[in-house]
Amino acid sequence: MPASSQPTVTASVIRDVTCPFCGLACDDLVVDTTGDRLAVRENGCPIAVPAFAGAPGRGAARVGGREVPLVEAYAEAARLLRAAKRPLFGGLGTDVGGSRAVGRLADRTGAILDHMNSAAVVRNLLVLQDGGWITTTLSEIRNRCDLLVAVGGDILSRFPRFFERTLGAGETLFGARTPVEIVFLGKGPAADVKLPGQVRVIPCDTARLGEALGALRALVAGKPVLAADIAGQPLATWQGLADRLRAAKYGVMPWATADLDVPHADLMVQALADLLRELNRETRFAGLPLGGAEGDVTSDAVHLWQTGYGTRVSLARGVPEQDLHRFATPRLLAEGAVDLLLWISSFNATRVPPRAAIPTIVLGHAAMTLAEPPAVFIPVGTPGVDHAGQYFRTDRVIALPLASLRSSALPSVADALAAIEARLGEAR
Ligand code: SF4
Repeated sequence: MPASSQPTVTASVIRDVTCPFCGLACDDLVVDTTGDRLAVRENGCPIAVPAFAGAPGRGAARVGGREVPLVEAYAEAARLLRAAKRPLFGGLGTDVGGSRAVGRLADRTGAILDHMNSAAVVRNLLVLQDGGWITTTLSEIRNRCDLLVAVGGDILSRFPRFFERTLGAGETLFGARTPVEIVFLGKGPAADVKLPGQVRVIPCDTARLGEALGALRALVAGKPVLAADIAGQPLATWQGLADRLRAAKYGVMPWATADLDVPHADLMVQALADLLRELNRETRFAGLPLGGAEGDVTSDAVHLWQTGYGTRVSLARGVPEQDLHRFATPRLLAEGAVDLLLWISSFNATRVPPRAAIPTIVLGHAAMTLAEPPAVFIPVGTPGVDHAGQYFRTDRVIALPLASLRSSALPSVADALAAIEARLGEAR
């Protein structure tokens, strides 16, 4: 669907709905809005179907666990923010409008910003900021890819329609699709999963991917590699893969950084970026970092244009400062370096704030349940379900429009933050 168009509504069925529940932002869902709950009728997936079917938000605002009118919750949140000397805005699971409001309020209160998925995002950022990389888009994969090497995980667990949306179409910009080879380097999909291409799995422990990628780079460059066994596979396996990589006309290596949850994973991403650079001496090969869940790409994009940085940015000193290690939520909380946590999670009720010994304000999915009542809980609508918005796709080339699929009394994150900000100047 073009970014400027709107979903088509037929009676209670809405077509061309954009899904905000992973970074693919599929824009072809058909959603039935009859009755109490939304139901995905076509083009759903194991993540989207339950997410859209979630109960309509009727959560109540609470202060200290006591139900209060929304305005009272806004006033208490503003009072806590006024009293805070070093607030942390974490979670940050929201759309473009919500992220813009986060940046505005952070600027006004001198807050630190850290998205809930930053631990994974930082593995990529360290490499991107250090030396850059060569990446592609979902559309380029669809139109040009002849060899796809998935690095690390099966991709499908986090992005269920990835192969369908990229390699599943029979037509490309240049005519009918030619067969694509799909190689999983690491963990492959379940045996019964059907993919649009010839599939091969080269098993490899995640912790040894760097070793495999480094050897592949040497082999692609024609350097001698003396080891008989590399990352658990014989040298011949890697030589065969290196030859195949060099023979590709337009190869792509996607990876989900969240799957690389091992120490020093940034070095693996670095090895991958170096391999891509080597391959591009002879052919065309690009990477594709996969992310976007909980609006992490959206938050990063908005704060990049607002502050010059993405995540883990402090506005405490009046100018933006980024520190990818020091401004990590777990570290800030463990060191007692912040005195208030504002946590935002509007897409996912299960992404609750970390336990913190400081006052916590939660702008949460209306179905969120918390072990202990925070100082303030404000239920917010989900973008693309309860209200309209925009959401960045994983490849960052487009922000897709999200539709409002049902009438909801819940405020958006942007509205809730604006209401809190408007009360910042009120007398204590
Ligand atoms: S693959 Fe992702 S964007 Fe597409 S329908 Fe599933 S959850 Fe939504």
